[in-house]
Amino acid sequence: NETVSKNFIEQIIDKDIEEGHCQKVVTRFPPEPNGYLHIGHAKSILLNYGLAKEYNGQFNMRFDDTNPTKEKVEFVDSIKKDVEWLGAKWNGDVLFASNYFPQMYEAAIRLIKKGKAYVDDLSAEEIRQYRGTLTEPGKESPYRERSVEENLKLFEEMKEGKYADGEKVLRAKIDMASPNINMRDPIIYRVAHMTHHRTGDEWCIYPMYDFAHPIEDAVEGITHSICTLEFEDHRPLYDWVIIETGYKTSPEENPKQIEFAKLYLTNVVTGKRYIKKLVEDGVVDGWDDPRLVSIAALRRRGFTPESIKMFVDLVGVTKAQGSVEYPMLEYCIREDLKLKVKRMMAILDPVKLVIDNYPEDQVEYMDVANNQENPEMGTRKVPFTKELYIEREDFMEEPPKKYFRMFPGNEVRLMNAYYVTCTGVDKDENGNITCIHCTYDPETKGGNFTGRKVKGTIHWVSASRGINAEVRLYDNIVDEEKGVYNEDGSMNINPNSLTILKNCVLEPELANARPEDRFQFVRNGYFCVDNKDSKGNVLVFNRIVSLKSSFKL
Ligand code: ATP
Ligand code: MG
Ligand code: MG
Repeated sequence: NETVSKNFIEQIIDKDIEEGHCQKVVTRFPPEPNGYLHIGHAKSILLNYGLAKEYNGQFNMRFDDTNPTKEKVEFVDSIKKDVEWLGAKWNGDVLFASNYFPQMYEAAIRLIKKGKAYVDDLSAEEIRQYRGTLTEPGKESPYRERSVEENLKLFEEMKEGKYADGEKVLRAKIDMASPNINMRDPIIYRVAHMTHHRTGDEWCIYPMYDFAHPIEDAVEGITHSICTLEFEDHRPLYDWVIIETGYKTSPEENPKQIEFAKLYLTNVVTGKRYIKKLVEDGVVDGWDDPRLVSIAALRRRGFTPESIKMFVDLVGVTKAQGSVEYPMLEYCIREDLKLKVKRMMAILDPVKLVIDNYPEDQVEYMDVANNQENPEMGTRKVPFTKELYIEREDFMEEPPKKYFRMFPGNEVRLMNAYYVTCTGVDKDENGNITCIHCTYDPETKGGNFTGRKVKGTIHWVSASRGINAEVRLYDNIVDEEKGVYNEDGSMNINPNSLTILKNCVLEPELANARPEDRFQFVRNGYFCVDNKDSKGNVLVFNRIVSLKSSFKL
């Protein structure tokens, strides 16, 4: 039965369609352009876009820019880029709530004329006191009974700039005794002599969120206005505004507000002011630092839109608040990249290996599968030479039991190449190994020789043909033992969240890698070319995730 697997929002939509409240589903993503988007916003974007697509409807991209204090064009641009990158295609042009300031103003006039709104002279502090508490009803303002004519005149004067910020507000006239505090004559317009990033100085009165948002939805013909749980108590006000301003006649009609639980990740920093502090303190190199979970950071780290979609789908849509572990996101990127990216050889901590019996100037090109699990990705040629680099940890002079990699006298497989037997090492005056020596068996070419068994297989890169790169390895920026935040508002930062490896050696083919290209580096994980610091012939790779998983479905 299909309806069983539908989430609660789909069930509401189905019912609305059945009851004739909606012909075409119209959803929107309505960010305030006051910051960068993070993984939580991705859930909202993909949810709204996904529903529109599923129901052959329409998805609007609308900036909720009704509060000029914190809004900036810079954020408009970054948000658009992130939504596009996630693959959520919006209908037509990008929309701005500020375009509807005239409709909002007209709607306020209609309320005044119906006796449903009044200009109040109380101060913000007095209004707060008069509003009452959960256990105590509110008190009516002495200005509540002003005549329609007086209210129209005063509101007009507010608009004309006659009053200073905070001197007067317009309030909805609902019910000061309502058990829902949001319904106790909420402020719907305030005076604010501020320059708006789009409308400039055209307006000096600005609508409050609870008044503006329903009108934005109504003007655009949004049918399902999906928001997060903290707005549940605002829903009666949402319906009140739309009904009283004449855009619908009952709560059953659309637009309709539906709330779902926010997406939270365990042990990550998402709060704007906390990220700001990390940037200011130089702990991270910007809002897109690969250790953060802004969309820009996830993109820079190497996550794909598909992996984020998979993650959001796995989490699901519910009304139950919970927190999801970061390893689940890592699981999704591994799943997504497994069959998609080339598996390359890259040495992160190089030590030289010399094959003493290999011809001095010979170069052989080994045929290597680009992805053993996906033969469609074809093969490539990888140069093999007398001098190679291998990982320092793939050699031990005195190995413990069960160490099957290189040690004196042991034979191992050089991946896709030859069997080699370690014959000894060179050391510097401090006893550090500078070079490992071995001999190879020409019979074993290709690495799948069956004449005798070897237990260890290690990867390698030609010393003369390999290219240099910087590789960055990441750990959680948060000290997971202690949790993110302390009671005093400080954070528990892991001092070792970034490891920079400057002398890595990669297969020559990686010289062609472009920013945001992704690869598996065999045995080391999945990597992505950094889109900020990788330029020209300076290659910088970020480790997206290691190969091993602690998360199981
Ligand atoms: P702020 O008001 O401080 O900017 P915000 O970023 O949560 O906080 P918006 O910019 O209005 O607020 O967010 C845009 C949309 O993204 C809203 O519809 C909001 O419900 C949704 N959203 C925000 N955070 C999350 C989250 N963690 N999980 C799911 N949806 C979210
Ligand atoms: Mg925001
Ligand atoms: Mg908000």
